[in-house]
Amino acid sequence: MALKNCERCGRTMETGQSSATVCPDCLMKDGIDLGKVTLYLRKNPLASVAQVCKDTGVPFSTVNRLIDKGTLKISNRPNSSICRFCGKPAKDSVCPSCREKLKDSGIIK
Ligand SMILES: [Zn+2]
Ligand SMILES: [Zn+2]
Repeated sequence: MALKNCERCGRTMETGQSSATVCPDCLMKDGIDLGKVTLYLRKNPLASVAQVCKDTGVPFSTVNRLIDKGTLKISNRPNSSICRFCGKPAKDSVCPSCREKLKDSGIIK
């Protein structure tokens, strides 16, 4: 049985045959957060991730993880050259200043 750490709470969990990256508790919390964010984005399609976190109370790290997993799509923007987090123009999906901030907080490497 393989063991790994839950990506959300860091608790050690048995992965068994599933490919889950979070424990069952967190999977439920992720679902709730995803619901909040999805609803928010439906009403505010142009909101940046920073705004989403502020208004929904969902942690930045969770939103980021859901985007990376492909569970959450912030695809309402036709132009992908906008920073995912602050909404400013960027060459990548994340602008350099947000990238720095995310690195500092250990959210991205
Ligand atoms: Zn967990
Ligand atoms: Zn940015």
